[in-house]
Amino acid sequence: MSVVGIDLGFQSCYVAVARAGGIETVANEYSDRCTPACISFGPKNRSIGAAAKSQVISNAKNTVQSFKRFHGRAFSDPFVQAEKESLAYELVQLPTGSTGIKAMYMEEERNFTIEQVTGMLLTKLKETAENALKKPVVDCVVSVPCFYTDAERRSVMDATQIAGLNCLRLINETTAVALAYGIYKQDLPAFEEKPRNVVFVDMGHSAYQVSVCAFNKGKLKVLATAFDTTLGGRKFDEVLVEYFCEEFGKKYKLDIKSKIRALLRLYQECERLKKLMSANASDLPMNIECFMNDIDVSGTMNRSKFLEMCEGLLARVEPPLRSVLEQARLKKEDIHAVEIVGGTTRIPAVKEKISKFFGKEVSTTLNADEAVARGCALQCAILSPAFKVREFSITDLIPYPISLRWNSPEEALSDCEVFPKNHPAPFSKVLTFYRKEPFTLEAYYSSPKELPYPDPAIAHFLVQKVTPQTDGSSSKVKVKVRINIHGIFSVSSASLVEVHKFDENEEPMETDQHAKEEEKMQVDEEQQKAEEQQQTQPENKAESEEMETCQADSKDKKVDQPPQAKKAKVKTTTVDLPIENQLVWQIGKDMLNLFIENEGKMIMQDKLEKERNDAKNAVEEYVYEMRDKLCSVYEKFVSEDDRNSFTLKLEDTENWLYEDGEDQPKQIYIDKLAELKTLGQPIQARFQESEERPKAFEDLGKQI
Ligand code: ATP
Ligand code: MG
Repeated sequence: MSVVGIDLGFQSCYVAVARAGGIETVANEYSDRCTPACISFGPKNRSIGAAAKSQVISNAKNTVQSFKRFHGRAFSDPFVQAEKESLAYELVQLPTGSTGIKAMYMEEERNFTIEQVTGMLLTKLKETAENALKKPVVDCVVSVPCFYTDAERRSVMDATQIAGLNCLRLINETTAVALAYGIYKQDLPAFEEKPRNVVFVDMGHSAYQVSVCAFNKGKLKVLATAFDTTLGGRKFDEVLVEYFCEEFGKKYKLDIKSKIRALLRLYQECERLKKLMSANASDLPMNIECFMNDIDVSGTMNRSKFLEMCEGLLARVEPPLRSVLEQARLKKEDIHAVEIVGGTTRIPAVKEKISKFFGKEVSTTLNADEAVARGCALQCAILSPAFKVREFSITDLIPYPISLRWNSPEEALSDCEVFPKNHPAPFSKVLTFYRKEPFTLEAYYSSPKELPYPDPAIAHFLVQKVTPQTDGSSSKVKVKVRINIHGIFSVSSASLVEVHKFDENEEPMETDQHAKEEEKMQVDEEQQKAEEQQQTQPENKAESEEMETCQADSKDKKVDQPPQAKKAKVKTTTVDLPIENQLVWQIGKDMLNLFIENEGKMIMQDKLEKERNDAKNAVEEYVYEMRDKLCSVYEKFVSEDDRNSFTLKLEDTENWLYEDGEDQPKQIYIDKLAELKTLGQPIQARFQESEERPKAFEDLGKQI
């Protein structure tokens, strides 16, 4: 059982693990804790992370980044269409209508789904965790933006499966940060005391998220979230890119946007300049050599000018802050602290906007880059039975109201908001219907205006095998709807209550096993209590449903008699009903299995290619080492003739490595090395012997 947390960032990913010493963020093979969300496809393999990032310009068309926000989106989605324009690689419409990524891989044109691409990134992050823990990793917790819809969440879940991970929870990024903040705090108010309210702000590369949480000892409750899903560091980069495109365009007569490589370089340089400006208010140079058409370009920028240009973006900092307070019905004075994370909160003007709004200094006690990953690992530790960690309960929420729509038996369309905005999650509710035949429930987001997603549909759930009672009347059907631990909605189960009349003298029997199981499934006591309340006071605004409930009332008196009642005349059995899901953008099982298999093949291919390269490098290293030593330490241990012929052989090999030998199978390199070693080994042996002989005498001398 592994305890691993993964922050899947738009630009940068982090992995945290639990070890004996506690939670730590671990470094990749470049000794860097940050792994770029980047995949580069090549003729023989793929590179992922830092190795891919270095190919952004040299292999622009086949190097994929900025893909996080394509999860669960159709190719025709306006967001995808807008993004498409600024990408160096190509997006395509897949047969399912979803967004695909086109690249040349193994000298073949391939279309990958977004789940596959994120799966590749997760493969890399999994490997990083495995190298740190020195054991295979399966269980993990992965973060997603708090504003992700079901389609986006399902898509990320599929990606984790492709990478062979078992995601115990998709946790909202801001909630992971809140957990990282709260779990070590010793001075939180006691259970019955007034909670401590803390605001968390995360502005990353692609998005801006805010949450307000209430803390008591051992628990946190998310009270509200707000977000601007397109405000992030890259928007600030764009401002600089636009400026220099125009400036250099005029000054040097260049159409920068017509050449993707130049544009990508400008993006890199502008991001670098932006970061410099966070620490430096003076004039800073912007020089790029051989930028386009062999022209060197240069310009300047300073912080105040930059801020002026970013006025529009900076104006977007405040509304989400105001919104969380309004939603949670809190005043600024009620906020104990404002914790900020995410790279873009390093821009001084962003920080100032936040602190000015709250009228207090913002806190930077959390690691701005690693807090999300640490929170994920902490959540994984809490969920892992194998790991001992302080008890800490988390109540999250859903950011958008969810409704169900259905046709009543009279064919009238009814709907009901089953989970209002900011409803606690995870959570289950049981709804009761009276039906004689199968029926469909359509789940959708009932407030499309606040949805940062074009399609309010969530899924259709067909409740099957519904039959009338033996006397021909409607059957009572209990339908359980839930928001699961990943924040995903579903109609999770349905059961039909069969009523059997029996003799007055017979003992009634409790056969409602299912009801007992249902109780076990409750998330925790508090939520169960809340749920019971929901069941007794159904929030059914829909008229027809109320009617059905009313109709139920008279039946209910007989049906729900407690088992202890001696004079019961009926007994009930519940029968589970199958539910057919029609989800928006869900990869089918077969497809998912194929992707898992393909990922395995690609991992194998990468491994083989690495081994081949290692074998080649070993030949190269041997050539250099021997050539060097033949003229120094080995000189005395080889005849002149032998030395000359060996040197010649080494030279030939070096030339071969640059020509015919540049691209050979692994075995050829292994054989080549062995061939060289037959010449080198005797020399090496004579040298070693002479080194050890005096030492042996010395040792002997000591013994005597
Ligand atoms: P997201 O949270 O949107 O998925 P992410 O997690 O990859 O994205 P972060 O790593 O939190 O994003 O932040 C990256 C952003 O922060 C980039 O735009 C980067 O340029 C910016 N950034 C990092 N350091 C600084 C700095 N010193 N000044 C200004 N911006 C910075
Ligand atoms: Mg982030």
